Amino acid sequence: MISIKNVRKSFQTKQGTLTAVDNVNLEINEGEIFGVIGYSGAGKSTLIRMLNKLESPTEGSITIAGREISKIKGAELRKARQEISMIFQHFNLLWSRTVRENIAFPLEIAGVSGAERKRRVDELIKLVGLEGRESAYPSQLSGGQKQRVGIARALANNPKVLLCDEATSALDPQTTDSILELLVDINKRLGLTIVLITHEMHVIRKICHRVAVMENGGIVELGPVLDVFRNPKQPITKRFVQQVT
Ligand code: ATP
Ligand code: MG
Repeated sequence: MISIKNVRKSFQTKQGTLTAVDNVNLEINEGEIFGVIGYSGAGKSTLIRMLNKLESPTEGSITIAGREISKIKGAELRKARQEISMIFQHFNLLWSRTVRENIAFPLEIAGVSGAERKRRVDELIKLVGLEGRESAYPSQLSGGQKQRVGIARALANNPKVLLCDEATSALDPQTTDSILELLVDINKRLGLTIVLITHEMHVIRKICHRVAVMENGGIVELGPVLDVFRNPKQPITKRFVQQVT
């Protein structure tokens, strides 16, 4: 479903060329919950941002559902972005809009009619468990509730892929667990492919099917989560595994 081939991403900085992602090759399957773990600066966000073309690769190609995302633009790119949604560590909600209005926002942009929008928002509010909070503003919600709004908004246009960049890093352990359970529920119910970035191995263990370990822009280890936990090969992977055992 997602095919990343020989992808490199370099930035020009005052200090010279900085390669954030270096020769990454990766296949992510449809319906999979795929984790990417690495320390700060490893290149995780840069990699995931190339999946919806918030960044473009300097070299290589990225194909999602048969479409080469690194090549498309204009209307085709807007359509592709509806299919590849994203949630963030700091939620990125619209603070002057209610829960209902935040979730309706991508539907408005997509030109969905009023009645259909209301039906869809009601459905999403139920899906993420925010019944009764429709009229609240983001500032009146807990962190976990804010992320539920973020998830509902991300799902509004029925995406095929959900990208999660440190989506639980701002939350306490208990709230993290409840959001992870929601992601599993959505994965099972909607068959959505989830790509999840984290620096916390317990997040990987709890919900991911496979995991890639990133270091200095490259993938240094890759496999089913159970295998990686049983038999971590790289020193960095051993350190991550030790975090939770
Ligand atoms: P964190 O866990 O801290 O979020 P990360 O693994 O997501 O880290 P990236 O944000 O992908 O790491 O950054 C990888 C490297 O690329 C870092 O050295 C970063 O400074 C650099 N980088 C990222 N974006 C840019 C940019 N727009 N311009 C220049 N350098 C960048
Ligand atoms: Mg990051």
